Amino acid sequence: MSQNPPDLRPDLARAAIRGETRPGQPTIGMVSLGCPKALVDSERILTRLRAEGYGISPDYTGADAVIVNTCGFLDSAKAESLDAIGEALTENGRVIVTGCLGAEPEYITGAHPKVLAVTGPHQYEQVLDAVHTAVPPSPDPFVDLMPAAGVRLTPRHYSYLKISEGCNHKCKFCIIPDMRGRLQSRPVHAVLREAEKLVESGVRELLVISQDTSAYGLDRRYSAHPWQGRDVRSHLTDLARELGSLGAWVRLHYVYPYPHVRELIPLMAEGLILPYLDIPFQHSHPDTLKRMARPAAGARTLEEIAAWRAICPDITLRSTFIVGYPGETEAEFEHLLDWLEEAQLDRVGCFQYENVAGARSNALPDHVAPEVKQDRWDRFMARAQAISEAKLAAKLGRHLDVIVDDIDADGIATCRTKGDAPEIDGNLFIDEDTKGLTVGDIVRVEVDEAGEYDLWGRRL
Ligand code: SF4
Repeated sequence: MSQNPPDLRPDLARAAIRGETRPGQPTIGMVSLGCPKALVDSERILTRLRAEGYGISPDYTGADAVIVNTCGFLDSAKAESLDAIGEALTENGRVIVTGCLGAEPEYITGAHPKVLAVTGPHQYEQVLDAVHTAVPPSPDPFVDLMPAAGVRLTPRHYSYLKISEGCNHKCKFCIIPDMRGRLQSRPVHAVLREAEKLVESGVRELLVISQDTSAYGLDRRYSAHPWQGRDVRSHLTDLARELGSLGAWVRLHYVYPYPHVRELIPLMAEGLILPYLDIPFQHSHPDTLKRMARPAAGARTLEEIAAWRAICPDITLRSTFIVGYPGETEAEFEHLLDWLEEAQLDRVGCFQYENVAGARSNALPDHVAPEVKQDRWDRFMARAQAISEAKLAAKLGRHLDVIVDDIDADGIATCRTKGDAPEIDGNLFIDEDTKGLTVGDIVRVEVDEAGEYDLWGRRL
């Protein structure tokens, strides 16, 4: 996947972790690798540790031990995780490993026998046990009060909200179900309580994530729970409606095009949740999708997209694709190009297929030659870029709400529209008249310049 820019590589998403410690306080450092889902796990672990009286160190030297939350999605991510463990051992020496790669403990201990403990994904209790053994807690009830919304690694004005874990599908190129297990949805009231706390503490945007957001609640048979005087089902539509009433932007990621996704679009048209869908289509050709064993492989996606746009014309559609999947013929690839042209997606990421240890697609016949993959990737990205450019140019002169992510020393504000998710999509920049703006503000702008992936605007 080296051809993809870093912002399209979930294995490159990193966290900056800050914290303050008191003298003598046991202190833990954390290196969080991997996708936003792993980041949520890191946040949960830190929240617990903080609640137990640990300090969080921003560097290796100030920490009594370091937790490395690893990613094992791709071979390149595994290598990066091993490097990070090696660096933590050299710099600090006391290292606890957790996360996806922790599902393969021998792989880690073979390379780094000195790690103190290895735990797998979501083994929160085991990680905490390992920390307690390595660095016993020393709570101080007067100063170790847990912050209402825990310790977040993401900037304060937006937060990921994990609604379920695991996946019931078996896409052939993916080993996540082997590493993370079957779908386990959080009860709806627990998700809503967390979301409410986040909003109360100043979060302006909630990013809903899971491996398969559309499947939320299936394992709970969509059971209902009391919430603020009424029953709410553990179902994505109900959850989205309730989240939308909290007053923050709500953005849905990793949604598959099941028929019930149509129920979400009116909520977007009403302005209850953001008019944004992140749908990993991966391909368009039915044969390729079948060889991938994708969920909703038979969905008539172009018809679905047209139906969504009829209800909510402003919807932003984001997706990722794989080119050069084993057996992909030139005709299948051209089907994908034609599909993309017709679908006119707003934001697109593309990966060249690569084998991942343990994936069933490795054994498929007719692997595509590297130069053909590269050629297809180039052609796909050129088409996607032209679409993105035209879509952004069409926004010139429009008045849009944007959220401020950053203001630099020169006063330039980096913002996002409702159609841009943090870290993976584009930005809207405000170059002047930013006095008085603060990070997390939502302001109205007029778009006065458009590029290939970004916009520029002036405040109204
Ligand atoms: S839906 Fe497919 S790609 Fe996504 S986590 Fe499940 S098996 Fe992996």
